[in-house]
Amino acid sequence: MFDKVTEHIYIHPAEHYTDRPNIGLIVGEKFSLLYDAGNSAKHVEKLKSELSEQGLPRPDFVLLSHWHWDHSFGAKFWNAPVIAGRKTDEQLQKVAEWQWDDISMENRIESGEDIVFCSEMIKREYPDRNKIEVVPADIVFEGRMSINLGGISCEIIHAKGPHSEDSVICYIPSEKFLFLGDANCKDLYGKPWKFDIEHEEDFLDNIAKIPYDKVLTDDFIRLLDALDFELCISGHAEIMTKNELYNSLGY
Ligand SMILES: [Zn+2]
Repeated sequence: MFDKVTEHIYIHPAEHYTDRPNIGLIVGEKFSLLYDAGNSAKHVEKLKSELSEQGLPRPDFVLLSHWHWDHSFGAKFWNAPVIAGRKTDEQLQKVAEWQWDDISMENRIESGEDIVFCSEMIKREYPDRNKIEVVPADIVFEGRMSINLGGISCEIIHAKGPHSEDSVICYIPSEKFLFLGDANCKDLYGKPWKFDIEHEEDFLDNIAKIPYDKVLTDDFIRLLDALDFELCISGHAEIMTKNELYNSLGY
């Protein structure tokens, strides 16, 4: 179910078992925009049927928060133009060439291109990995862009932040709401950390041990300071106030 959060914003909650993130729908008078594509065709089918059941529109645009599989692998299945920042698009072009057999996946973990956590979650979401189809974006921007959905505008900002250098956030001034994607999260691809699918209960403790990059986080906070929002949501967590977000980042 998509939950109504403000007059024009709906959010479908994250599903942690296969690392499906929160999916936002911003509905204007003319167009609607989806923030993040979902992680598979199956995920997209589920979202589409819930939109129909709830009488909500199918998105006219799909905006990607960053390249990570859980946010981007559903992109092909919406039949709508996909918007991404330049860096996200460049990385997706590489990922589109990746092979998904066990050896190729292990090699990418060795080389640091991918991590154990994503690899295990991909295996869970895709019993048949031949079904993985990664596509680059249709509309690529650099820096910032705005999109007027009819009576409501979205400010789309390449924010960088501590999680991934391609992170794009979506700010909706009239609703004082901000979609963060994973931009406020730690960098799971930087320093090594332990994930054992047999001990998923340790996941949050292990993540807690990863430090935030201070310089990237400082820059990110400066960007957030300039945005007038009351509520925000990160990719895999609950809605927070601006204060709660700052506290979570140690500010
Ligand atoms: Zn991510």
